[in-house]
Amino acid sequence: MSFKAAIVGRPNVGKSTLFNRLVGSKIALVDDTPGVTRDRRPGEARIGDLHFTIIDTAGLEEADAATLEGRMRAQTEAAIAEADVSLFMIDARAGVTPADEHFAELLRRTGKPVVLIANKAEGKAGEAGVLESYGLGLGEPVALSAEHGEGMADLFAALLPFERTEPEDEEADDTVAETDVPVGEEDEGAPVDLTRPLKVAVVGRPNAGKSTLINTMLGEDRLLTGPEAGITRDSIAVEWEWRGRPIRLFDTAGMRKKARVETKLERLSVGDALRAIRFAEVVVLTFDATIPFEKQDLQLADLVVREGRALVIALNKWDLIEDRQKAMAEMREKAERLLPQARGVSLVPISGLTGSGIDKLMQAVAKTYETWNRRVSTAALNRWLASVLEYHPPPAVSGRRVKLRYMTQAKSRPPTFVAFCSRPEALPEAYTRYLVNGLRDTFGLEAVPIRLMLRKGD
Ligand code: GDP
Ligand code: GDP
Repeated sequence: MSFKAAIVGRPNVGKSTLFNRLVGSKIALVDDTPGVTRDRRPGEARIGDLHFTIIDTAGLEEADAATLEGRMRAQTEAAIAEADVSLFMIDARAGVTPADEHFAELLRRTGKPVVLIANKAEGKAGEAGVLESYGLGLGEPVALSAEHGEGMADLFAALLPFERTEPEDEEADDTVAETDVPVGEEDEGAPVDLTRPLKVAVVGRPNAGKSTLINTMLGEDRLLTGPEAGITRDSIAVEWEWRGRPIRLFDTAGMRKKARVETKLERLSVGDALRAIRFAEVVVLTFDATIPFEKQDLQLADLVVREGRALVIALNKWDLIEDRQKAMAEMREKAERLLPQARGVSLVPISGLTGSGIDKLMQAVAKTYETWNRRVSTAALNRWLASVLEYHPPPAVSGRRVKLRYMTQAKSRPPTFVAFCSRPEALPEAYTRYLVNGLRDTFGLEAVPIRLMLRKGD
């Protein structure tokens, strides 16, 4: 566990909801007995590959009104003192209230790091509140929907800097050691370790052909293909080898046979996919090429990107496609238009049934994995930044130029960059997008999520 974060804020802003989402279980709800003190519960949280301890200060609303403020203050101060960073949450729908201002003041006085979270930001109802929260003077808010899981990538990016002082987490022995590759070295394209199993998840809508594909890869009928409707099975891992390279495959067969049952079960199966995605390094998203780019396909692609995994799209059942050239052109156009967050993603036509295209698919997996692990040297980044600043500097905001000073790659898997900036909150989002696209094009970071964090620095 690399660091501790405390969630603070007035009652009802959504602290418990975020706590539950980060800890990934319903534990906090289970002991929701009136009168039980839930103050400062610690939990093991994770977002993507970031692990940390989270201290929740929810449950204070059960205190009686007369002592509420005092207790809130005491509990909050204790939690803040214990934590490396405070996640200060407001309700973007309600806007900034006097109680929020009170908390902000308390936090500012501690002088410890704060990440401001504007929760309930889904849809339009929260927009004004998000903007209003800039006025608390705690920097750029992370717009979040704890309930719907939106904005988690931004929260991830905001918390990442707190991880870096500690050694790798407990999963380190199962991944390529990043510590071998110090930031700032000229190490573009550092070779990945080919003896460790590359973790690949095969996800996709029911009937896209996941089981068929995995069975063909393995060359035997290893997966259960029970005829019973609604069989529930957790994601499973199977060991495979491709061109002598060990591959650990995760199958989400649990998603099968649930196509026509009601939403609740469909959501559960997305949960299965999410578990596989989180375990994987590269995700093979399997489309049924005869009905591609359906809503669930897009949702899954978005999940993969948000979780920071490398993405490859398999266009399955290609054997059923008549005019392949035309179909391919259409797929490329659709991918560009409907999946801008996965720019440059490999689209590989395959037939899980006949096995054709699987070798190409695995080549794309290996290449994308390499990109996902890539390190760009600080020197190269800053040479690039200098040319960007010369030809396309950030616009002036309220009469003053926003200055970008320096950039470095904080981590890989996925490539994550930090830019130090005179006024991070003033840099327009369009400019950040421009930088991300520039990084992608200049350093060949196709088809992997790129994180760019802005930090205040002079
Ligand atoms: P806490 O008192 O700060 O721990 O707040 P809770 O987590 O108990 O949430 C308070 C209420 O806000 C509950 O009814 C939640 O369902 C709701 N809530 C939490 N997060 C969100 C969100 O992102 N969007 C919306 N619309 N409601 C949310
Ligand atoms: P899953 O639910 O994603 O695991 O999908 P299955 O592997 O069970 O496949 C669903 C259906 O699509 C089955 O009837 C398969 O035979 C068929 N299928 C799978 N892959 C292909 C393929 O490459 N070509 C064709 N023509 N049919 C396929």
